[in-house]
Amino acid sequence: MKVAKFGGSSVADAHQLRKVAEIIRQDPERKFIVVSAPGKRSTTDFKITDKLIQLANAQENGKPTEEIVNTILQRFRGITAELELPSVILTEIEGTIRTVLERNETAARKMDALKSTGEDSSAKILSAYLQQLGLQAAYINPKEAGILVSNEPGNAKMLPESYAKIHALREKEGIMVIPGFFGYTLEGELVTFSRGGSDITGSIVAAGVKAALYENFTDVDSVFTVNPTIVNHPKEIKTLTYKEMRELSYAGFSVFHDEALIPAFRAGIPVEVKNTNNPEATGTRIVSEKKETEKCVVGIASDTGFCSLYVSKYLMNREVGFGRKLLQILEEEGISFEHAPSGIDDLSVIIRESKLTPEKEDNIIKKIHELLNPETVTINRDLAMIMVVGEGLMSTLGVAQRAATAITEADVNIEMINQGSSEVSMMFGIESEGLNRALNSLYRAFFA
Ligand code: ASP
Repeated sequence: MKVAKFGGSSVADAHQLRKVAEIIRQDPERKFIVVSAPGKRSTTDFKITDKLIQLANAQENGKPTEEIVNTILQRFRGITAELELPSVILTEIEGTIRTVLERNETAARKMDALKSTGEDSSAKILSAYLQQLGLQAAYINPKEAGILVSNEPGNAKMLPESYAKIHALREKEGIMVIPGFFGYTLEGELVTFSRGGSDITGSIVAAGVKAALYENFTDVDSVFTVNPTIVNHPKEIKTLTYKEMRELSYAGFSVFHDEALIPAFRAGIPVEVKNTNNPEATGTRIVSEKKETEKCVVGIASDTGFCSLYVSKYLMNREVGFGRKLLQILEEEGISFEHAPSGIDDLSVIIRESKLTPEKEDNIIKKIHELLNPETVTINRDLAMIMVVGEGLMSTLGVAQRAATAITEADVNIEMINQGSSEVSMMFGIESEGLNRALNSLYRAFFA
């Protein structure tokens, strides 16, 4: 059996949902279906999840909510009407959203509960539509499915206890449509994953039911070697390993949630990224191992929005506990770090810029001076990270040199290089301003 997950654009409207139903109908092995909330129908459109977040914030801040509720319901009304589904479906969707709004609970709980109604409604609609087409299909709530998660609102992690219960779903007859993006704590509280988290649900279900394949349907034919909004018509990736995909999706490859691979990977289930709008295309296959090919670099990922905290002190290398104390200062401010390249007397810690508010920045700098007595402390904002990714990278001579040359030829200064800490990637830190030039030049060097 297969698990098929359909992303936001695949369930954005009735037209897309018809394609989804056709894809499900074509292969009887597609037994477990995971759906996102309706996404954008065009580039100027909105995502239901964004509207639901807006709704939660409006209520929290005492602002009017009715107009937002109506905008959300209008989308679902359009879908159910066009698919000619019974009106009770819409009544149920509206009832769920309004009940959550009326509940008296913490802002974080309400936020998660409202966000979950997007995928929940998608799943109810799709299962009803499949039934209408004469297929045996049922909506399965994540609680019933056994998706157990940690109690971290908006950022849940899957609990390993999930698998046993999910495995039991194999015994059920027919197609099961499960909403993605949320699960329940052991105490029964609803909690969502981080944004884009329906991919994680799909992966957990695939691992739980020991599926033969996890298909992830989006709106692109495959994963590209580099961001297609930056480089024109880049080559497609046919096969890549979990490790490579993990590195690529971490740094800006938005096709797949970076946390979603682990469950499928551990269970050894191959993943295929496919296109709802062109299901015949081969797509991209993600596997544990691949044959050695002549290409050691499979893709080049990039992301902006980083900053570096640079600390230097003479003889840092001999000061026991320096690194720990520095990281502890960040920990006290609730900041996690992404990379930490270091030298003999210097240490840089790379942080997502969004985590470092000006207030936290002041506290951190003050504490570093007090506790570590360094010569220099600087924070450098507006950085972009480029990851050159490939399994064979470490064993191939000259990759770093080729990459560095390409970046330099684009007239971009390399602020930082981190090579060797990951087996499959090489990281370059540059100023965001030079990102497009650097990527185009790197693409020419490795793929053209
Ligand atoms: N709907 C959620 C989001 O937009 C989750 C998902 O689509 O995977 O983040």
